[in-house]
Amino acid sequence: MSLLHILHHPDPRLRTKAAPIVEFPSAVATLAEDMLETMYAAPGIGLAATQVNVHQRLIVVDVSEGNNEPHVLINPKLTLIGENIPWEEGCLSVPGIYETVQRSEHIEVLAQSVTGDEFTMQASGLLAICIQHECDHLDGKLFVDYLSSLKRSRINKKLKKNKEQA
Ligand code: ZN
Repeated sequence: MSLLHILHHPDPRLRTKAAPIVEFPSAVATLAEDMLETMYAAPGIGLAATQVNVHQRLIVVDVSEGNNEPHVLINPKLTLIGENIPWEEGCLSVPGIYETVQRSEHIEVLAQSVTGDEFTMQASGLLAICIQHECDHLDGKLFVDYLSSLKRSRINKKLKKNKEQA
């Protein structure tokens, strides 16, 4: 297994729309394992392939305290259920920034495993929010896109400053 490099906003590669995965060689499972390792090391609770510059529809999430409930979702399709709720989000590609975003409290996901088997999964609360956030990455979307342009420009300035200091 190996740690992967995570792209940081405003890297234009984060705006790439990922392609569906149609074949399931062992390289797909290896990518998922490397992404989980990278996410745990960061540390984070979700990672989309887009963030490690692989433009295929694969996300990994684990919102458990013990880092022992990993989910790998390939070609995920979301059905949003119920009300939107506010939730404070962060992102490994937007380090140090936390802002409140509205998302659906419950979801149902249709996805495939690393061997291509289809499954459905229901999620609520943090897990549901996290999956929605990661699926956005596959469409080239970031959580800061939901904020006002004033907030976004403040964030961009802060990120630029952090980068200069690094
Ligand atoms: Zn993110």
